[in-house]
Amino acid sequence: MYTSLLEYLDSNDATLVAVSKTKPSSMIQTLYDQGQRIFGENRVQEMAEKHEVLPKDIEWHMIGHLQKNKVKYMASFVSMIHSVDNMPLLSTIDTQAKKHNRKIDILLQIKIAQEATKSGWDYETLITEIASETIFKYPNVSIRGVMGMATFTENKEQVRGEFRRLKQYFDELSPLIGSDRFDTISMGMSSDYTIAVEEGANMVRIGSLLFGAR
Ligand SMILES: *Cc1c(COP(=O)(O)O)cnc(C)c1O
Repeated sequence: MYTSLLEYLDSNDATLVAVSKTKPSSMIQTLYDQGQRIFGENRVQEMAEKHEVLPKDIEWHMIGHLQKNKVKYMASFVSMIHSVDNMPLLSTIDTQAKKHNRKIDILLQIKIAQEATKSGWDYETLITEIASETIFKYPNVSIRGVMGMATFTENKEQVRGEFRRLKQYFDELSPLIGSDRFDTISMGMSSDYTIAVEEGANMVRIGSLLFGAR
């Protein structure tokens, strides 16, 4: 599975985040031995424990809903945080990154799904924040792009429409952010990654397809 998935993603210039949440370090090591370096986790504690025991050239991506008080446990090593959806969190990441003399890559998670439970910025709120320029006051944070999750539904056209909207948001935000490092569109999971790639994803987050059901 890994090899054919990688071939598909490579030919579409999309990067794979292997989502290893709840899976043991041994399974991560196996995929690492096949060449995979980027792994995604949704709990800080679990990610920190795995970082401790696994090879140090793994790039750890935080993809799950995040509380401010947890940022300090990963600020020294996290490679990218996909789930930034409010200013206090952004500010905390900046403060913690500064303590470690580094700059942390983040994605703006934007709400595209219809479910009320899905986290993410409301797009209009995000635009207001950007207009007020507060978002640019954090030198130890590098805003690399956007992340989104489609509605959990069998309706493929709905999913496609939501991914298309996220790509459109990215295109609108790009000149407003005004950085050539703003280049990442993280969307698509095991069930919908081909749709996401067709709609412009250049980073996908895939778990169960690689590691089995959770
Ligand atoms: C768990 C998770 C994934 C991966 O889901 P799969 O269906 O196992 O591929 C992707 N993104 C986020 C934010 C997740 O929490």
